Amino acid sequence: MLIVKKFGGTSVADKERIFHVAERCIEEYRKGNQVVVVLSAMGKLTDELIAMAKDINPNPSKREMDMLLTTGEQTSVSLMAMAMDALGVAAVSLNAFQVAMHTTSDYSNARLLKIDAERIRMELDQRKIVIITGFQGVDRNDNYTTLGRGGSDTTAVALAAALRADACEIYTDVDGVYTADPRVVKTARKLDEITYDEMLELASLGAGVLHNRCVELAKKYGVQIVVRSSLNNHEGTIVKENVDMEKMLVSGVAGDKNAARIAVVGLEDQPGVAFKLFNHLANHNINVDVILQSVGRDGTKDISFTVDREVADEAMEILERHRKTSLKCQSINLDKSIAKVSVVGAGMVSNAGVAARMFEAMYDANVNIRMISTSEIKVTVIIDEKNLERAMNAAHEAFNLGAK
Ligand code: ASP
Ligand code: MG
Repeated sequence: MLIVKKFGGTSVADKERIFHVAERCIEEYRKGNQVVVVLSAMGKLTDELIAMAKDINPNPSKREMDMLLTTGEQTSVSLMAMAMDALGVAAVSLNAFQVAMHTTSDYSNARLLKIDAERIRMELDQRKIVIITGFQGVDRNDNYTTLGRGGSDTTAVALAAALRADACEIYTDVDGVYTADPRVVKTARKLDEITYDEMLELASLGAGVLHNRCVELAKKYGVQIVVRSSLNNHEGTIVKENVDMEKMLVSGVAGDKNAARIAVVGLEDQPGVAFKLFNHLANHNINVDVILQSVGRDGTKDISFTVDREVADEAMEILERHRKTSLKCQSINLDKSIAKVSVVGAGMVSNAGVAARMFEAMYDANVNIRMISTSEIKVTVIIDEKNLERAMNAAHEAFNLGAK
C-alpha cells in the first residue's frame, strides 16, 4: 500500500513529538507499505515568521513573504528525515522545488496545477520514507509560492491523487470531525463518517478541521480522507462521497460569529436596485452571504444582507458613498452583534421538515431568528450573537446529535 500521512504543526512542535511522528510512520513502513509524509511548519513557526517580517517591513512583498514562509516547512521535513535516520530508517526530505509541485503565481494563495510524481516514486522504490513540505509550491518562473494558511492539508490530498495513494490520512490534535465544536457543545460527538459536501459546508462555516480547498480537491479526484489524532490511536473520521444511508438527517451544527448584518432601508421598489447595490460591493471584492428583501410597500423596499465582520466597515463606507446618488435609499444600518448557526446534513435532500425542526429548536430556546437561508444540505439562521451558545446547543439536541 502507498499511504500519504500529513501531520500539522502541533504534531511536530518539538523534538519529542517529531520522534513520536517518526515512530508512527516507521511502524507503517515496517509493515511493508510505501510511506509519504507531508508536514506543516513546527508549532507556531509560521506565525512567528510573519511577525518577524512585519517587524522589519510592515508591508512586505508577497513574493518575499512566501520565500520566507516556505522555510518553516523546510525546517520540519529535514528534522523529520534526521529523526528517522537516527531511528535507523532511510528517509529523504523534499521541498516543493525538488518534487516539482507546480502552482499558479498567486503568492500567499496559489493553486496547485500539477505535481511530478517521478522523483517521489524513485525514492519510494529505493525503500525510503519520503517527507514532503506541505503548503508550498513553485510557479513557472521558479518562485516559491504558498497555498494559503492551513494549506498543507491540500498538499497531502493533491499528492495522494497524483500518486494514486491507497490512503490519505490527515493527523491533527483532535480525534476527528465533531457534530459541533466540543468547547461550545459539551455533548458533541466524533463522527465516524462525513460526506465531502457536508465537510465543505462545515469548513466554510468555520469548523476549521480541514483546509477548504483540500476537501474540494478530494471530492474532485475521489480521494478518501481520514482525519485522526496524532496523539492517540482512535479511529478518526472518514471523509468521502457517500455515507451510510441509515445515517442521521443532520451531521453537524456550526456556529460562526464572523458575521455582520447591513440593512439598506427605503430603496426604490424598481428593477435594477439589487443589481446596483450588490455590484458596488462586488467591485470591491466584498462577498455577501445571506440576503433578505422585504415586500415592497409605498414604492419602497428594504434589503438586508450579511458580510464577514472584518469587511463590514468597508462595505458601509462604499454604500454610504453611493447612498444619495445611485442607491437613493433612506438609511443604511450596520449590526455587528449577530451570529450564524447552521445545521448541515446530506440526509436533508430527501427529507422534509428539517427547517421546521430547526426553527422549533430556536423557539424552544427562546432565540429570535433574524434571517434565514437554506441550501440542499444546510439550514442557516442569523441570530443575536449573545444567543449563539444556547442556539447551537438547542439545535444539537433537537437533531439528537449527542446520542449514539
Ligand atoms: N504552516 C502553514 C500554516 O500555518 C500551513 C499549514 O499549517 O498547513 O498555515
Ligand atoms: Mg491545519
